[in-house]
Amino acid sequence: MIWYPYEQMKTMKSPYKIINANGVYLYTETQELIDSISSWWSVIHGYKHPELNQAIQTQLEKFAHVMLGSLTHEPVQTLSEKLQSWLPGDLDYCFFSDSGSVAVEVALKMALQYFMNRNETDRTMVLALEHAYHGDTFKTMEVGDDEDYHFVLNAYGKSRYVVHIPTEIEALEQAFAAYHDRLNCFIVEPLLQGAGGMRMYDISFLKRARELCDQYGVLLVFDEVATGFGRTGNRFVADLVLPDILVLGKALTGGYIGHAVTVANRKVYEGFYDDDPSHAFMHGPTFMGNALACRVALKSIELFETQDYMSKIRKIEEITRREMKAFSDPRIKEVRIMGACVCIEVYHSDTIKGYQQFAYERGVFSRPFLNYMYAMVPYVIGEAELIKVLCTMKEWFSIKH
Ligand SMILES: *Cc1c(COP(=O)(O)O)cnc(C)c1O
Repeated sequence: MIWYPYEQMKTMKSPYKIINANGVYLYTETQELIDSISSWWSVIHGYKHPELNQAIQTQLEKFAHVMLGSLTHEPVQTLSEKLQSWLPGDLDYCFFSDSGSVAVEVALKMALQYFMNRNETDRTMVLALEHAYHGDTFKTMEVGDDEDYHFVLNAYGKSRYVVHIPTEIEALEQAFAAYHDRLNCFIVEPLLQGAGGMRMYDISFLKRARELCDQYGVLLVFDEVATGFGRTGNRFVADLVLPDILVLGKALTGGYIGHAVTVANRKVYEGFYDDDPSHAFMHGPTFMGNALACRVALKSIELFETQDYMSKIRKIEEITRREMKAFSDPRIKEVRIMGACVCIEVYHSDTIKGYQQFAYERGVFSRPFLNYMYAMVPYVIGEAELIKVLCTMKEWFSIKH
């Protein structure tokens, strides 16, 4: 018996059973569906991509996995070199793990231990954003701010170790004034907060955050598990404002295999690098640096670069803005667009109840949550297919339910 995610099993409607997938399409026995959310935002090249499949098959001939404790291998070495040269600034030190949540845990543990290694033992607090989502493990829930996902933490009462602020510069400055000597890091989903409701905010907030982090010696952590690899219309938001630690996941492997990476800059790395063994970073997920995942990640990055994905993403944004331009409805609070993400926020969640089945019948797979109907399409989507996704969203509002 499968226990499905985020579902009340007693009332859950049965999931659509996928028997094949190709490009932007998912296939059930009876229906073909454009995947408008890229399997939780990860399948940026679409399904069954010949070159990604080949990359995995070639590696499989050698070995699927060996541990990174006392061992290393070419795919993980090449991927870390690639990330080192490809990522901005001195984000050069790659710690791999098997999921985004674990990679965020790694970042938070690194930030804490960075100061413990310097005997700054008062820096136990983390600054985070309201409506943040950083994963479903315990520390990531604690820095997250989402009642709908994480209400179980209420059992412990309010955390002494995390402060949440809105994405407003005034609140940011106040938080630094109040807590700067107790903070080890400020963690954000930069520009686009995903699971918290596709909330978008301005780069000026992050620029000010960088200044304050520099001023007070607080580490800036970007959780780009969702925003990385072009989703916001920037390759990485880290290209605009440089964090001390960057977390990548989801699209890292083109959605093929769960893998993630926490990338530290030189300053953070050097905070661990010395003769004292107790200053080592004591962490090691069993499947970190999985060879199949590294190979497919390398191929995914190669496609991203050689096929000029940034221009594909610009085109998606352009078409989306054009199609949504004259669209409005009294039940809609806001339509938000950034890069290859569009979100329709409604006033009442009832307004979009039933949309998933409506879209299914029209050949689109969608998974609205709470008050948010959204699309985060694979970047290889064609114009006609993208228009179909957007028109299905609009059509829902043109029909009385
Ligand atoms: C999805 C997500 C995570 C968690 O990644 P998993 O691979 O599901 O553990 C963390 N941070 C952000 C911003 C995410 O969108």
